[in-house]
Amino acid sequence: MGAEQVAERFTQLYGTEPEGVWAAPGRVNLIGEHTDYNDGFVMPFALPHQALAAVSRRTDGVLRLHSADIGGGSDGVTELRLDTLAPRSDDNWTAYPAGVVWALREAGHEITGADVHLSSTVPTGAGLSSSAALEVVIALALDDLYGPGLPRRQLARLCQRAENVYVGAPTGIMDQTASACCAQGHALFLDTRDLSQRQIPFDLAAEGLRLLVVDTQVKHAHSGGEYGKRRAGCEQGAALLGVGALRDVPYADLDAALARLGDEEEVVRLVRHVVSENDRVERVVSLLRSGDTRAIGPVLTEGHASLRDDFRVSCPELDLVVDTALTAGALGARMTGGGFGGSAIVLTEAADVDAVTKATEEAFTASGLTPPRVFEALPSPGAHRLT
Ligand code: ADP
Ligand code: MG
Repeated sequence: MGAEQVAERFTQLYGTEPEGVWAAPGRVNLIGEHTDYNDGFVMPFALPHQALAAVSRRTDGVLRLHSADIGGGSDGVTELRLDTLAPRSDDNWTAYPAGVVWALREAGHEITGADVHLSSTVPTGAGLSSSAALEVVIALALDDLYGPGLPRRQLARLCQRAENVYVGAPTGIMDQTASACCAQGHALFLDTRDLSQRQIPFDLAAEGLRLLVVDTQVKHAHSGGEYGKRRAGCEQGAALLGVGALRDVPYADLDAALARLGDEEEVVRLVRHVVSENDRVERVVSLLRSGDTRAIGPVLTEGHASLRDDFRVSCPELDLVVDTALTAGALGARMTGGGFGGSAIVLTEAADVDAVTKATEEAFTASGLTPPRVFEALPSPGAHRLT
């Protein structure tokens, strides 16, 4: 799927050529999990998988939406009036792009309508942020066409607002910022407190390394409620420690902080994960900056153990990927994303990709599970205009 095909399909649907075609990637988080709602650090990079959108302006207050990947309506085109867009009024996929239009208008930007045709290669519901790719590609297109020229991080904020308020999904700021701001060959070191960011060189290919994304294709049903519980537990921890957010607990003070929490066993585990995870992000940043890419492997694996044992958001399928990959010679592995299913990442020598992939497939088959989908993810460009 390329820009030309997306533009052609747009023309078939709407009878005119689009004004432009834009792309926004999905992302994978290298390290920094469940830190974003604690004002902490994350480190995503952009996937080669992207949402593409062909878009034209309209002047009549109408938004027309079509996805190559999802049906709907008689010709598949959903038509909405901008003046009727309201939070939670829509539980279809169209809520994501409509929410972005709503958020832009709410922020005072004049949008008078649009025709949109979308097509995405980001797997949905795999923890790879197909939703953010969708939001960001629409936000960037409308920003370009209607001209507010907003900074990328502000576009990301508007997309987050679309997802939180309009769609009604309580997500942090990482996904949208990653899709909007990542750069090829780099990971994005993002401070979710003030959105300050640094591009950290992460040129796997040049070092003979590969990062595999292993999509378990399972999603355990209780994930939504568990996410809310972890979030509430972290807030409780911050309140008990008298800090605004767990980000404010320095790693050097972790033991003292845990001692203060006493027998609040659940909160102790959550705090230990968040504070140590922020430290792991900083360790990965300094290792990458000193060119020691292979040495991040054990830090990734340590992060998995913390998510599994302290934060308790892993699941047997994710643990199986990590254990099998490490046994097969991977340098490091961990679950990525919210947990309870979705994907794991595996850092490996390029020469070991086949062995790791095969071992993982065999382990799943031996456990009576459907083998996961495995693909290589080299750090790819963030959102951009194609035509
Ligand atoms: P994730 O972001 O991890 O992939 P989410 O549940 O946040 O999972 O978002 C997935 C939802 O985003 C889908 O259920 C669908 O509503 C929407 N979506 C993603 N990609 C597309 C697409 N190509 N076309 C239409 N809707 C999409
Ligand atoms: Mg999402």
